[in-house]
Formats: sequence, structure tokens, C-alpha cells
Amino acid sequence: MTLFEKSQPGCGNQLLASLDVPTVELESAFVRQSEWTLPAMAEADLSRHYTELAEKTHGVNNGFYPLGSCTMKYNPKINEALAALPGFTEIHPLQPLESVQGCLEVLYKAEQALCEITGMDAMSFQPAAGAHGEFTGLLLIKAYHQSRQDHKRTKILVPDSAHGTNPASASMAGFTIVNIPSNDEGCVDLEALRAAADEETAGLMLTNPNTVGLFDRNILEITKIVHEAGGLNYYDGANLNAIMGIVRPGEMGFDVIHLNLHKTFSTPHGGGGPGSGPVGCKDFLIPFLPNPHAVVLEEEYSWEESLHSIGRVRAFYGNFLVVVKALAYILTLGKEGIPEAAANAVLNANYMLTKLKDLYPPAYDGLCMHEFVLSLEKLKKEKGVSAMDIAKSLLDYGIHPPTMYFPLIVPEALMVEPTETESKQTLDEAVEAFRTIYATAISEPEQLHAAPQSTVIGRPDEVQAARSPIVRWRPEHQ
Ligand SMILES: *Cc1c(COP(=O)(O)O)cnc(C)c1O
Repeated sequence: MTLFEKSQPGCGNQLLASLDVPTVELESAFVRQSEWTLPAMAEADLSRHYTELAEKTHGVNNGFYPLGSCTMKYNPKINEALAALPGFTEIHPLQPLESVQGCLEVLYKAEQALCEITGMDAMSFQPAAGAHGEFTGLLLIKAYHQSRQDHKRTKILVPDSAHGTNPASASMAGFTIVNIPSNDEGCVDLEALRAAADEETAGLMLTNPNTVGLFDRNILEITKIVHEAGGLNYYDGANLNAIMGIVRPGEMGFDVIHLNLHKTFSTPHGGGGPGSGPVGCKDFLIPFLPNPHAVVLEEEYSWEESLHSIGRVRAFYGNFLVVVKALAYILTLGKEGIPEAAANAVLNANYMLTKLKDLYPPAYDGLCMHEFVLSLEKLKKEKGVSAMDIAKSLLDYGIHPPTMYFPLIVPEALMVEPTETESKQTLDEAVEAFRTIYATAISEPEQLHAAPQSTVIGRPDEVQAARSPIVRWRPEHQ
């Protein structure tokens, strides 16, 4: 029920003071044509309404959330507290530089720390999310080839396991996409890559570990093939949680990267933001980074503009408070804590995989990195129970479903990413839930088609929900 439906005429307070300034007549185009409708209710009821709504939402604060490829880790609240300091929130982007030196210092230090972690030479915080970072990074690649008058490089190589945003961003940046198949181990097929890389190749987009949770051991060979063909290598940093502080994309042969601060570096996400998708690059690409860029000039922080920049990709300086949280997180964990977080993410994923794989066959053999992909193809054939049925059943155990039907190359895929912040006890409970659901799938498969039983809504029409969501209540007469 919405506030409007709960409204009781006569309830609530009239807090607005009566008008004590002259009335101004507005043009009719700017004047409301019908009565306005505001809900009337007591303050306590209003507060309860929002608490009820919050309880209906599943978040990492009330349950396990192993949504693969998304890194839904628990984010320490201290970072929120720091980002809420008035010195960070009560500022204006057009304020004189000497009054916001601390904020520029945050951007500068975060850039230094993230460059150290990734092996890049500079970074821009303008992009607001990962996909936006991809688009920005591809514009850097484009600007680079154009600066060399190398106009025939119009193709971006993308492995078939890639996240959907990769080909979408490449297409938005004006490139054509060449699909590179994966081999039986779930990694890049080197022969196919060699055959595809040529003088029309602008670059390759890759995430490592990849979207099936495997570290591509041929990474040096892969980036070399692309470099030798004259292309650049783009690293999709969404999976950095598995390797941060352990191995650097810069040393794997990548020239441009994006990070998802809202996945790896402690900003809650889901529900639409705000996020941050900084783009990092090697020094030969720095002139093309978005303007402006925070630098230290004569012991003062300042903005630098490059003549060859691709320009701005967003107003002002990006989602600054997300950068504050990322820096707080990095400084809290430090040089020891960052690789430890990555190692625990990998350990937790392998622990769950080992405890599940006798019932739920992994799509690929061997150890995984921070996430793993199961294929329910056999269960679907034999019992008619799909990945969707299992995912929906998990909701009845208070667990957010893993990512489903992705990557596209795995039939009936369930992609599980426990993250480093979960305890062994939580992982054991989740394993127990998966195993109980499996037993039900064998004994009473029909029961799973009816799941979930305990949620407010069960199986919405997903296409309708995605294409025409109703996110606003409207009074009947509108
Ligand atoms: C999440 C993700 C993206 C896109 O990032 P957004 O911040 O959601 O735009 C790209 N690639 C991979 C592998 C991802 O997991």
C-alpha cells in the first residue's frame, strides 16, 4: 500500500506556515490545473510505513546476497559516517579551490592508491558507474588511434563470456564488435583471438578473472597478441575483488581499465546508485583522460586540463562521496588488508563450491576465483527444475538468489559470489539451504515451481517489470 492509499483525511500535521509574502501570479502553463493530493497521516505512521518498506526489501544488511559478478559485500558503516562529514557534503562544485583543498586531496590520494593497486599511471573519477567507465575508456582508445591517424581501427574484440555492458559500450563508442569464443576451460580461445586480431583491431575488452570465475592463465599471451596487432587492451575491473593487492592489471598487459568502486571499494549498490566507475590508464593515454584532473601544483591541489582530452563525460567531478568511501576503505584495510580481503573472497567461493559440487555440477572443473558458475542443465532435463526454480526457492530461506542465466555460454547457469565479508557460519547455512532445495527438487519438483512462498511478490513478469516499471503512484484523475 502506498502512503496515498493509507492516507486518512484530517490526520497529520499542517507544518507549513501561512503565507507572509506577496502572492505572484504565474503564467497558466506553470500553474497546477487540478487539486494537489498529499497524503495525510500521523508522523509515527509515516515512520512505520518506511520501516515496513525497508523490511520488505532484501539487502546485504538482512541476509546473504551471493549475486555473482556484482560483489554484494557488506560495507563497513564507518565509511558512510566519513562520507557524511559536513566538510564533504556541504560544499559546492564551483567553490574556490582554496576552500576545498581537502576534497581535492581525497581525489588525489584515492587516485594514487588505486593506481598503485591496479598498476595504472593516472585515473579519472568522472564516470558514474562501470558501464560509463567502459564507454569512457573506449573513447580513450579511439582518441589514441585517431591521434596516430590510424583510422581503420574500428573493431573491438569481446569474448563470448563478457558482461553485456562490454559489447554495448563498444557499440555506443562507435566500434563494431568481434565475438571471441571461449575454449572448453571457459577461457579465451587463443587461436580464435590470433585469427581475429588484425590491423582493424582497436582493442580487446576483457575481465580477469572472467565472468565464469576463472583466472585466464594465458593473460600475458592474450594481451601480447592484441598489442602485436596494434590494438590496446581494456580491463573490465568489475572482478578486481578477487585479485586486488595480489596481481595488477597493469602488469597483465592492460592499457586502460575501469573499476567499480560500488562493487570492490565499499559503496552499497543495487537499486540504481550512486556508483563510481573510475577509468585508469597507462601514461601514454593520460593526455586523453576526461578534463579536469586533480593534481598537486606548488604544494596546492588544483585542476589540470589537457588539450587532447576526450572532454567531460559527466558534470563536475563524478560521484565524489563514493570516492571518499573508497579511500576510507583502502586506508582502513591497508597494504595487508587489501590482499587478505581478496584471498578470503576466493577462499569463501571455493569453500562453497566444494560443499555443493556433488549435487550442483560446476560449469568448469577446478578451483575458482571469487565466484563460481553452476550448470543446472541435468536437473532441468531430468526433473524439470530450472535455475529459476532454485533461485526462487532460495528466497524462502532468506537468501538473495545468485545471478541467473549468466554468462550466456552456460546453460541453466547459477553464478554464486559469496564475497569475503561472510562468515563460515553463513556459508554453511547457505550450503544447507542449497542442499535441502536440491533434495526437494528430486522428491517433489512441483513444489519448487511454486516458490517463493514467503515473499510479497513471487514471480513477476520480468520483461514487463524491466520495460515498463511503474515506479510512481498517480492519483486516478491524472
Ligand atoms: C557490474 C559489471 C559491469 C558494469 O558495471 P556497472 O557499474 O553496473 O555499470 C561490467 N562488467 C562486469 C563484469 C560487471 O560485473
